[in-house]
Amino acid sequence: MKAAVILFFLFSNIINAQNINSSEQPLTAKQKCIIAISSVAAKGDLPTLKTELNKGLEVGLTINEIKEVLVHLYAYCGFPRSIRGLQTFMEVLDERKAMGINDKMGADASPIHQEPAKYERGKKVLSELTKIPQERPSSGYGAFAPAIDTFLKEHLFADIFERDVLTYGERELVTISVLSAIGGVEPMLRSHLSISLNVGLTPGQLSEFVSIIRTTLGERAASDVQQVLDEVLKNTPQTSTVTQLPGDTAFPKGEKITGNNFTGTAYVFRIINPDSTFYTSIGNVTFEPKARTNWHKHPGGQILLVTAGMGFYQEKGKPAQLIRNGDVVRIPPDTVHWHGAAPDTGLTHIAISLNLEKGNVIWLEPVTEEQYKRSNFHE
Ligand code: MN
Repeated sequence: MKAAVILFFLFSNIINAQNINSSEQPLTAKQKCIIAISSVAAKGDLPTLKTELNKGLEVGLTINEIKEVLVHLYAYCGFPRSIRGLQTFMEVLDERKAMGINDKMGADASPIHQEPAKYERGKKVLSELTKIPQERPSSGYGAFAPAIDTFLKEHLFADIFERDVLTYGERELVTISVLSAIGGVEPMLRSHLSISLNVGLTPGQLSEFVSIIRTTLGERAASDVQQVLDEVLKNTPQTSTVTQLPGDTAFPKGEKITGNNFTGTAYVFRIINPDSTFYTSIGNVTFEPKARTNWHKHPGGQILLVTAGMGFYQEKGKPAQLIRNGDVVRIPPDTVHWHGAAPDTGLTHIAISLNLEKGNVIWLEPVTEEQYKRSNFHE
């Protein structure tokens, strides 16, 4: 059994070398609260959970986000802790209501596309998280007990992970907090610390995570986690522990993009300006996490060469596609679309705008928060 478990999680020691940490930013107040809430809920420390739930609401976590944290953790520490957590949260909300505090409900999960089959969707999510294609038939414990392989992929990585109330980064923070609280699951903790790096959390942020665990779970739990984290970072290729600033690619990062055609912070370096020979412009575009273009179209079409990081490309009326380093996107003329970075990871691409004699880019409305959040989970 132990060997099988290790076999399954071996893949996750491989880290995406192209992972961009746009800067060594500390954890946000919300991320810190997610860690505190998850760790004490998993431990079953309900009085402290009450305090942490109040803090979470105070720093702006929505009711639906906290609910989702408490639901997500059931996959790692079981229904009883999850349900006790939700019951405690109901009490907290009642008490706050009685005090006249009106907490923000926040967005609910978007409807889930039911195609392709759930097992395939779960497999795809797991591949995105680990950066390793998942094969069937599975080996190790999945071959030994195919039922658990099916439950993991269909339920955990499709049913739960496809809910867009939390980002993958936030879900990993819940997961590593719960694994730290229950203890004795080092292979899974190792795997999920690696996935955390894959989805854009930085080594610095994971150190902060250990500090929070020290407060909520105590010194012993924290030193166990620190030991596993040290191993993971030691085995991580240098490129992903070193901050790779957008612009570390072949071309400079260029100037910050101003105006109203982008959401968030993005930069452009003009490589080729259009002329009457080629009617083509080529630019190196860098998006910080969450940054994206407005919806827009190119009368002469566009080709994107992704050179670093991870993000999304979406055509109007179609699900968003995950794009990452090495991907090529062919955008046909007059097709309404947007492109941009993942929530926790930056994106750099070379944008080649072609046939400009047919006209320049036509900018449309911004990609709303809701449209952006939805793009994170469906391809
Ligand atoms: Mn475009």
